[in-house]
Amino acid sequence: MSLDNFTAVGAAVQAQSIAQDRTVSTVTRRLTVLGATGSIGRSTLDLVARNEAAFSVEAVTAHSSARELAELARRHRARVAVVANPDCYAELKAHLAGSGIEAAAGPEAVVAAASLPVDCVVAAIVGAAGLAPTFAAVAQGRRVALANKECLVTGGAVFMDAVAAAGTELLPVDSEHSGAFQAIGAARLQDIERITLTASGGPFRTWDRARLAAATPAEALKHPNWSMGPKITIDSATLMNKGLELIEAFYLFPVGVERLGVVVHPQSIVHCLVAYKDGSVLAQLANPDMRTPIAFSLSYPARMVAPTVPLDLVKLGQLTFEAHDPERFPAIGLALDALARGGSAPAVLNAANEVAVAAFLEGRIGFLDIARTVATCLDKAEQAALVMEPSSLADVIAVDGAARILARNVIAGVQ
Ligand code: NAD
Ligand code: MG
Repeated sequence: MSLDNFTAVGAAVQAQSIAQDRTVSTVTRRLTVLGATGSIGRSTLDLVARNEAAFSVEAVTAHSSARELAELARRHRARVAVVANPDCYAELKAHLAGSGIEAAAGPEAVVAAASLPVDCVVAAIVGAAGLAPTFAAVAQGRRVALANKECLVTGGAVFMDAVAAAGTELLPVDSEHSGAFQAIGAARLQDIERITLTASGGPFRTWDRARLAAATPAEALKHPNWSMGPKITIDSATLMNKGLELIEAFYLFPVGVERLGVVVHPQSIVHCLVAYKDGSVLAQLANPDMRTPIAFSLSYPARMVAPTVPLDLVKLGQLTFEAHDPERFPAIGLALDALARGGSAPAVLNAANEVAVAAFLEGRIGFLDIARTVATCLDKAEQAALVMEPSSLADVIAVDGAARILARNVIAGVQ
């Protein structure tokens, strides 16, 4: 599947790039940034601002932060700015007055922005809301720098089929998958023994179950290593983020689920390890700053300068690794269970988790209730025949919607 795309692209460009200038400054790449006001979106635009000769911005989108979006659009001289929330249109238009930048609003306008012909779309909307725009970007058949993990988790084979059909060059932005992509290079899938994603273990790595039961949103939002949006930060505390990433890896690197694994690595320096059948293990290391994998996805196959702190192993002194505890952190097991159930089960897992995380952040359920809600929803979805083989984006969106209703009902029972 996608790895064929990756390696085909990789092999072709590798030969050229040896002879060519390895900087990206000679060619200006036109970008659209979906989710421009978020953590990944801002990091992307930070890189763009530092490499103005290399990149220009076509469109930027956000949910409802109109003022912030207008500022970004002006600063980067975008042609179009779109808010998904139609209620924010007037505000966006007012902030863009006199700039010549086109303003638009509504989910369809976000999809239209994603469909504009550019060299690369950075797909950084959080959650299932990113599905339709990212599918639209994929259909363009150019490059998609994929941060939105929900496309792979919920869309799975449907998403990868769309990538293959359009001949899209898909570059993973998630740090572990960027690491795997780099460590795999042009290797053959059949030579890979194991792909191991690292997990920081989150802020509650050493907490016992009693303490976890009483964990507050404020405590869960304090990630030890990474600065990210709130949803993924909670997922890092439950370790559901790693579960979602195993599903992502399952589709991106089709070596079989039995060859995928997780190891807890509290320093977040090693992002992924790829073991080959001759005993060699290639790992990708970098300080935990998303601008490194984002830069790689923007400049590939060249490398661009990113303003990250150089890695100093002597200063770090040691890198440690430990097994994850499935008793305290059942989310990874739930994600593997969803993969085993197959079809749309990962979409159910994702939707139930999004609803549960929102309920936790609003103080309506406890920390351990997040995984409990997801587990109950997986069972109930199977009973309700929601676990099926989706054949289109519409099928995936329908399962997502039904699973959200299911999760809200389950949470109403939990409260
Ligand atoms: P964030 O919450 O910081 O930003 C999300 C962006 O999406 C914002 O611009 C927001 O306005 C927009 N958005 C939210 N709801 C929307 C909707 N309904 N319609 C249109 N736009 C909407 O999130 P983030 O941390 O930047 O994460 C973005 C994606 O990247 C997620 O899928 C996440 O899992 C993935 N990711 C993030 C990181 C990270 O370090 N932040 C790392 C790996 C993967
Ligand atoms: Mg990650």
